[in-house]
Amino acid sequence: MEYYSKTAAGISPYTPGERPERPLIKINTNENPYPPSPAALTAACEAAGSTDNPSALRLYSDPDGLEVRQAVVAAEKAAGVVLTPENVFVGNGSDDVLSMCFQAFFPPAGAEDKPLLFPDISYSFYPVYAKLYGVAYQEEPLDEGFAVSNAGYLRPNGGVLLANPNAPTGIYKPLAEIEPILSYCLHKSVVVVDEAYIAFGGVSAATLLPWFPNLLVVRTLSKSHALAGLRVGYALGHPHLIEGLTRIKNSVNPYAVGYLAQKTAVAALLDVGYCAAMTARIVATRERVAQSLARMGFMVLPSAANFLFVTHERVEARQLYECLGAEGIWVRHFDQPRIKNYIRLSIGTDEEMDVFLQRVERELSTIH
Ligand code: PMP
Repeated sequence: MEYYSKTAAGISPYTPGERPERPLIKINTNENPYPPSPAALTAACEAAGSTDNPSALRLYSDPDGLEVRQAVVAAEKAAGVVLTPENVFVGNGSDDVLSMCFQAFFPPAGAEDKPLLFPDISYSFYPVYAKLYGVAYQEEPLDEGFAVSNAGYLRPNGGVLLANPNAPTGIYKPLAEIEPILSYCLHKSVVVVDEAYIAFGGVSAATLLPWFPNLLVVRTLSKSHALAGLRVGYALGHPHLIEGLTRIKNSVNPYAVGYLAQKTAVAALLDVGYCAAMTARIVATRERVAQSLARMGFMVLPSAANFLFVTHERVEARQLYECLGAEGIWVRHFDQPRIKNYIRLSIGTDEEMDVFLQRVERELSTIH
């Protein structure tokens, strides 16, 4: 630590999910079990070029990511949301976009008394960014059913950050409940809605953008488009918020999104039909797995995401996590108050989930 800055020495970094070498089934980081769009794969190969066709990789990528922003606009149009490229910001995964939100919109501790507000149980990266960027924050407890209740958010704040659907619970908060928070914060603070999982259920807050210049919707291609390894995320909002993010990006890493990533993302975004078909498949599997787990005595939270958050009163979650891990089945367990006895499992293929269900059933029978 002797060479570290105070920041590097003091920070507790985010812990990513494990990446076991030869997992039998990897359902611990909410990746999509299906391949990305064939059009995206073709675009990736074409963008990479070959020795006799010197690749554009020699050159810097477009710092403005204009083609990706246009593709986002086209995909949103197909979903009935009318935007222009000035409403879109592109980043190196949504983690990158979120990090820029912290720098662009949330006040540093000490500058004001008003803290950034987010739920006590949510994406565990939020407190890491808040500490890294010195943002004062307050975690608002989810209610007993693990829903985000508005009471904690209708008070002076330096910003609001909500994952919707929330992670790791999977619970979706209807827009009619988000609107009062946006109205309360209007002309005062920015409300970021992290929609990493919106493709798997619920209506996007993007439909509220015309009324709320303080709303920023953050999305990713990691889950719905099966491109976690590509690292592309984006934000939708009023041009002045997009400009705020761009100011930060151009002060840190103007070429944050590489050429390959941009070309692949464009093709993936435009293949709206493929994405919808794969998403529908995952949702159908999710419902089937939820029912099977409920039949085994699990309490399954209602999920609008590509994962389930479950608990069983007769089985310790940690024990189940370890038993499954020993068999090469990787799920996620968070050693955190309130959710210690839950496991989160991503939705894999039907075949993977059948194996998972079989193993869980076997574990339960040995524990009873
Ligand atoms: N937000 C939430 C709620 C997430 O669960 C994740 C994935 N861990 C992200 C954002 C980040 O996704 P990515 O950086 O891959 O776009």
